[in-house]
Amino acid sequence: MKTNADFEIYPIIAPSALSLKSINFYLVKKADALTLIDAGMNDDTCWNALQHTLKENDLNIGDIRDIWLTHHHGDHVGLVNKITARYPIPVYAHPKAVPRLKRDPDFLSMRIEFYKQLYLEMGCGELGDKQVAYLFNAVDHNKDQKLNGDIIGITEKHLFDFEVIEFPGHAPDQIAFLDPKGNRLLSGDLLIEHISSNALIEPDDKGNRMRTLVEHIDSLKRCLALQVDLLLPGHGNIIEQPSLLIEKRLNGIERKSQKILAMIENGISSGNELAKAFYRQKYVSQFPLVMSEIIGHLDYLEYQGKITKKVIGKVVHYQAM
Ligand SMILES: [Zn+2]
Repeated sequence: MKTNADFEIYPIIAPSALSLKSINFYLVKKADALTLIDAGMNDDTCWNALQHTLKENDLNIGDIRDIWLTHHHGDHVGLVNKITARYPIPVYAHPKAVPRLKRDPDFLSMRIEFYKQLYLEMGCGELGDKQVAYLFNAVDHNKDQKLNGDIIGITEKHLFDFEVIEFPGHAPDQIAFLDPKGNRLLSGDLLIEHISSNALIEPDDKGNRMRTLVEHIDSLKRCLALQVDLLLPGHGNIIEQPSLLIEKRLNGIERKSQKILAMIENGISSGNELAKAFYRQKYVSQFPLVMSEIIGHLDYLEYQGKITKKVIGKVVHYQAM
């Protein structure tokens, strides 16, 4: 891809029927060693895409020395168990990914309790209860998504010749891998060309709500400052000179925040009512995502001192300053 780099990067692009367009993961080759960065979904499409990229470039799956994960989401870690069952290679991820990937029972219970409390505070009623029940059932239903084997928490700023950069927001454990010589960034879901990446609300290790949108904005700004030539995302097209797109995303967030602030100024005060008014039909069909967006913006507006909150009954009501 670039001549002034020490590595070859081979994209693995698996088509996706979803709005994601494609599931992308990457093979990095240095001398004879291969590193797999992310591991797609656990399905035949991703497995075949991996095989295809290996074959096309005369590479061997047995030469993969390790797997690095940009974040814990299921469409980035899917093939890990299949690969490590055959080749017991180390898997690296952010330390915050570990309880999520190991599906730690205490962590999962805490996370459900977090959403229960959150939806109560936002005044979500029945849909909130339904989502909590769904999460509760998912603990059992998704138990085979647990990653087997050890996951090594990355605590250093470098992983071999790559710089490891924390970009929380979309996920609390999101990291990117910068190839400083090639000026290329393997960036997970920080920036996607055709859709804006969600800053999903998540609890921290102690069950407190993180300001995920504030973090996401900060991550985008830090990414912009890196001035990379090439961004290798988790979905959609590879992005050359991403600066303009990052600015577009930052502006989009500001515009949305202004709209939500205007709604609050007009007297819509709870998270649930704001989500309904802003998203209409999507409020029901995409309830958790929609709530995540609204709560993210409420936290962002509050962080900027533009709104304040008051608890009435059990529900938090927001007011413009
Ligand atoms: Zn993701």
